[in-house]
Amino acid sequence: MHTYKAAENALTDKVILITGAGDGIGRVAALTYAKHGATIILLGKTTSKLEAVYDEIIAIDGPKPAIVPMDLKGATKQNYRDLAATIEQQFGKLDGLLNNAGMLGSLGPLEHFCVSTFENIMKVNVTAQAMLTKYLFPVLRKSDSASIVFTSSGVGRQGREFWGAYAISKFAVEGMMQTWACEVAKTNIRINCINPGATRTAMRASAYPGEDKNKLATPTDLMPTYLYLMSDDSQDVNGQSLDAQAKK
Ligand code: NDP
Repeated sequence: MHTYKAAENALTDKVILITGAGDGIGRVAALTYAKHGATIILLGKTTSKLEAVYDEIIAIDGPKPAIVPMDLKGATKQNYRDLAATIEQQFGKLDGLLNNAGMLGSLGPLEHFCVSTFENIMKVNVTAQAMLTKYLFPVLRKSDSASIVFTSSGVGRQGREFWGAYAISKFAVEGMMQTWACEVAKTNIRINCINPGATRTAMRASAYPGEDKNKLATPTDLMPTYLYLMSDDSQDVNGQSLDAQAKK
């Protein structure tokens, strides 16, 4: 799917919620989806970053987005219920959910992991995504064809030393996607994962501070796969974990 070319209007009339939409891959996905006609619900931790993306979407004449400031670390059942009710009221349906927000935490031997960091990573990378998906499920059911995308990682498919809670959380994401996918087969909803691969963002820089970032793919390079899974061209794709970058 690395070479997929979406029609300019591929996402017209779709409403797509993106978590972690203020920075990195989520920000570029928001701009890309808006460019292809989608109305974007920008969810993230830092309001000023979401406002900047909002302005960028307006500047490219994209459909007017919505902003949802939410720290997934502290979000409650009621927050998710309220969000679902607001989406239902304002848009009547949800066509896409990109579970993209993620937290790296600190890397190091599992023997020495910090319990509170471990719990926070699980909350942001796993529990919050499970809850968001659960509570938004009824509005996703109202779409003609809805796509849920989880964000995985290479360290969530094959164990690697020192990636700690982050790696464990990404294995959980792959498992969550597969379990959901079995349950939604033959419905209007499909659920898949994307593994972005090494990408030039703040998270990657904190994992590899000494690396030459100019050698990395940019979030824009990943967008063919992100567009494919949100467009109706992937209507029959369910339960897959796709790589956003071609293997080198
Ligand atoms: P960034 O750190 O650049 O962006 C992460 C985004 O998630 C930010 O918008 C951030 O918001 C948001 N976020 C983090 N914590 C929370 C929280 N508690 N509540 C709400 N929002 C939160 O990361 P990337 O763009 O690189 O990563 C995007 C996804 O891709 C992640 O799931 C990551 O694990 C995955 N990934 C990335 C790879 C890479 O090489 N970059 C490789 C493999 C997977 P704010 O800016 O406000 O803090």
